[in-house]
Amino acid sequence: MGRLDGKVVLVTGASRGIGGAIARAVALEGAHVIINYRQDVEGASRLKAELDKMGLSATLIKADVSSEDEVRDMMRRVREIYGSLDGLVNNAGHGSSVIWNKRFHELTWEDFMSVINVDLKGTFLCSKYALDLLRDGGSIVNVTSIPVKSGDTVGIPYLAAKASVYALTKSMALALAPRVRVNAVMLGSIETGWINWVSQEELRRIVGSIPMGRLGKPEEVARAVVFLLSDDSSFITGHVLVIDGGECLACD
Ligand code: NAP
Repeated sequence: MGRLDGKVVLVTGASRGIGGAIARAVALEGAHVIINYRQDVEGASRLKAELDKMGLSATLIKADVSSEDEVRDMMRRVREIYGSLDGLVNNAGHGSSVIWNKRFHELTWEDFMSVINVDLKGTFLCSKYALDLLRDGGSIVNVTSIPVKSGDTVGIPYLAAKASVYALTKSMALALAPRVRVNAVMLGSIETGWINWVSQEELRRIVGSIPMGRLGKPEEVARAVVFLLSDDSSFITGHVLVIDGGECLACD
């Protein structure tokens, strides 16, 4: 028996990386998973084919989480297909190397808002339009990031968005209790596409700052998200679970 048997869970930005690992783990635990993506139809289709082959239940929905119309349509389709929702994982993230590397004085308002629109507005819109669909006992999991505590000279719009996701998680947990639980995972350095746009030297520096001596794996994040979606965490709300191999210990 799976820990999410029969539940319906929507994972945003699930065509690859952490979202893909979460979608796979959720399906393996017995849930019907909805794989949301915006552009990467190949990645999303590959994941669906993999799950189909294992006899697991998955549906693809293309939607840009920063568009209110597209989010509304996505939730309408979820209602048509499944009638309701048990879990929502707000994972989609902007992830542009160009904007990430800009220093404060180089950033434009458009750069800033393009990140805010996906990471923060997307989290807000998906949560708002999922509300009517979420069954009692439902669970929302947001995704934030450890440098929101310390700040950084790069990734500035991203950290502003993720700090707001942290605050939104706390407020939503209060607002939606006791019907729906809202938690977040606060991630350190997890091995996904970004490792291809940093130098080997930078990667060594990052790994050197992690007490566990390695990057995290998307599957390690997925296991924690499954816990927060499942009834195993039924009395946990407003919690931000740090998954960083100890990297954050040095920031406190
Ligand atoms: P990734 O490999 O870049 O994947 C991002 C996903 O988001 C893709 O599936 C992408 O799909 C989707 N996406 C982007 N814009 C979207 C939009 N407007 N609407 C819907 N989907 C959209 O990212 P990742 O490294 O797995 O990160 C996943 C989450 O964890 C993000 O929120 C990220 O900020 C957070 N995080 C990651 C790390 C890390 O070390 N990797 C650390 C801290 C936090 P399409 O290509 O189809 O658009």
